[in-house]
Amino acid sequence: MPAFKSYKTTCSYCGVGCGIIAKKDTKGVITVEGDPDHPVNRGMLCSKGMNLHHVVQDKSDRILYPEMRWSKGHDRQRVSWEQALEKAVAVFSTIIKKYGPDSVGFYVSGQCLTEEYYLVNKLAKGFIGTNNVDTNSRLCMSSAVVGYKQALGEDSVPIAYEDIELADCFMIAGANPAWCHPILFRRIEAQKEKNPNTKIIVVDPRRTQSCDIADLHLQILPGTDVILYNAIAKRLIDRKKIDKNFINNHTNDFEKLKESLRSTSLAEAAKLCGITVAEIKKAASYIADAKGFITLWAMGLNQSSIGVNKNNALLNLSLLTGHIGKPGSGPFSLTGQPNAMGGREVGGMANLLAAHKNLANDDHRREVANFWGGKEISPKPGLTATEMFDALESGKLKAVWIICTNPLVSLPNANKVENALKKAKYVIVQDISHRSETTEYADLLLPAAGWAEKEGTMTNSERRITYLNKVIDPPGEAISDSEILWRFARRMGYHGFDYNSAEEVYKEHCLLTKGTNIDISGLSYTRLKEEGSFQWPVPQNNHEGTSRLFEDKKFYTDTGNAKFVVPRFTKPTSELLTEDYPLILTTGRVRDQWHTRTKTGKVNRLLTHISDPFLEMNQVDAFLLKLKEGDIVVVESKRGKVQVKIKVSDTIKKGVVFLPMHWGKVLGNDYGRANNLTTNIVDPISKEPDFKFTAVRVSKYVKP
Ligand code: SF4
Repeated sequence: MPAFKSYKTTCSYCGVGCGIIAKKDTKGVITVEGDPDHPVNRGMLCSKGMNLHHVVQDKSDRILYPEMRWSKGHDRQRVSWEQALEKAVAVFSTIIKKYGPDSVGFYVSGQCLTEEYYLVNKLAKGFIGTNNVDTNSRLCMSSAVVGYKQALGEDSVPIAYEDIELADCFMIAGANPAWCHPILFRRIEAQKEKNPNTKIIVVDPRRTQSCDIADLHLQILPGTDVILYNAIAKRLIDRKKIDKNFINNHTNDFEKLKESLRSTSLAEAAKLCGITVAEIKKAASYIADAKGFITLWAMGLNQSSIGVNKNNALLNLSLLTGHIGKPGSGPFSLTGQPNAMGGREVGGMANLLAAHKNLANDDHRREVANFWGGKEISPKPGLTATEMFDALESGKLKAVWIICTNPLVSLPNANKVENALKKAKYVIVQDISHRSETTEYADLLLPAAGWAEKEGTMTNSERRITYLNKVIDPPGEAISDSEILWRFARRMGYHGFDYNSAEEVYKEHCLLTKGTNIDISGLSYTRLKEEGSFQWPVPQNNHEGTSRLFEDKKFYTDTGNAKFVVPRFTKPTSELLTEDYPLILTTGRVRDQWHTRTKTGKVNRLLTHISDPFLEMNQVDAFLLKLKEGDIVVVESKRGKVQVKIKVSDTIKKGVVFLPMHWGKVLGNDYGRANNLTTNIVDPISKEPDFKFTAVRVSKYVKP
């Protein structure tokens, strides 16, 4: 008899989706190791994944039983699940009856499993009658969703990780995969080692760790991405380094793009971007010479007031060169969360519908409503992430149910979010840990099962669906998020929630995808457990999955052709710099922390890398402000302030400062919370916040 039992599962941090073998000994203690048979990581794990078991073993921060405030202003007290669900039903029923279904909302997370995401959407859109379901994925990839839809007809990542080993030119734009998607980056590094002629272009205002393998670092000024990609496109067109055959036969609106670029001057573009003409030409020549060209991007493009335009401009480079739907090529948006992609599959946003169906399409809404057997689905998009908290503050939204996310630290303009939570009529928080600062504002706190404590599925950045095993029981009275939702729905009197397992929810979701472009009706739990992970679509029981989309050059648009979209805005429409606020703040991540540190913050080993928040500033700016390494500074915007130590460097562009977004309360105060500073500005189409451009000033902290 072995001393431990092994379970195959998946890392619950980033969207790379590494396979993990969790080993449980006879005392129930878990250790983890990389799954050598998993096609994503082939046994490798990064520092976060390697320490995942510490998060599970340490239960000191866990929410163990439901807690409820009997009235506003009083402390929460332990209650039974019966009392908790009865209260949730009473509050939601009363508010919906009095103010209508749009007076309640659900704010969920890219960490939810697909089954949980599916259920909350079915509950809200199909039975309560509101599309007020949005997710923290709105904060990281909604601009990419719109970009894909506009260019390819649907939100479809065309590429597979195996294309990395077939490419000879990478453009990493607004992303730092060396720290944020480490195992994927390791595969790019390995490809460069194997083929030294591989060219790597990094576009980033900071010289990040990803630049260590770059042949060319385009250190542009924040917000000038569209200008850069348009200039590269112009150069490719002028030099006739485009794929005429692909453009003529498989795209629309090339002439519109060409016309829009007619007056583009490389010299002017270089000046606006803060780089040289030679650098633009070099980037264009690397792309022109490539046999396989992959663009990889993340928050640096998406989190912008012109995030969709940045996506449009970058996607145009793949279409111009015909680098899509063929080995080693394609536009590849990286997802930050483990199941941001799964959420998109089940329509987990306020403007989406399940199974990639279209909320604006009458037939699609009718189909889904009939399938669920609930109410008619409203065509009106619901409130997006920031809109939901604005509506809570103004009183338009009365109650919010927050699942598996910490908006008090992660949403922009955190002081406004705090005010919204204070003013809300009722706040339900469903989570695993008291470390989430948002739990402080919960009128009803529901204990959820965490990673390894429940089963379900997730989809990674390359459309790969994997099964997550239940390894141990959740602590205390915690239960799975799915069970919380279906128990609530039944108590509300809704039929169609008589599930007994996550597998039953998954089966229903699969059935709804039948006949769509994301058809997974051929992928059962049994296949996932026995055969491993699959990339969608998987339309039949014997189908092997689809590693690459559009190999037939049939895109999901009405015409079947991909579309060049001319970016509407080139320059950012962000907050303006002024004499009072002369520096551009950009926020981001560090290697060993993840999101708002509710998990990584409690793992001592991960704190040995970077333990405290800091402000990174260019040495020239520091000199001008008479600041030196280690000084405590106050960073101020029009909305709030942050007090942190300064890190002086030559790796960040002059005029730009960087603050990591992970920290909330530091030493009991919220002085490390980057989102005290950020703005409410969002992209007008994707509604993704502009985290990468805030006007700030910095001064030395003086003791009062
Ligand atoms: Fe987990 Fe991402 Fe690290 Fe892989 S790369 S181990 S998925 S955090």
